[in-house]
Amino acid sequence: MTFPRICVNCDHSIVGDFEVAVEGFSASGARDDTYRHPAGDPACTGRTADRSVVSRALGAAVAESVSRFRGA
Ligand SMILES: [Zn+2]
Repeated sequence: MTFPRICVNCDHSIVGDFEVAVEGFSASGARDDTYRHPAGDPACTGRTADRSVVSRALGAAVAESVSRFRGA
């Protein structure tokens, strides 16, 4: 069974050419290499700027406490 290669830069599957970003250093194959789209590949959208779930939750909590502090 083959697994799809996932790009470390954009988290999308790689169809076609790829580069090895980091070799897995695992003789057993348990830790696979990591892959990325070749430089300049239009299929690679890059890392999204979206904030993590934790970051968004913390931001909402901070905004709420600030508005409570201001008596809004
Ligand atoms: Zn990519």
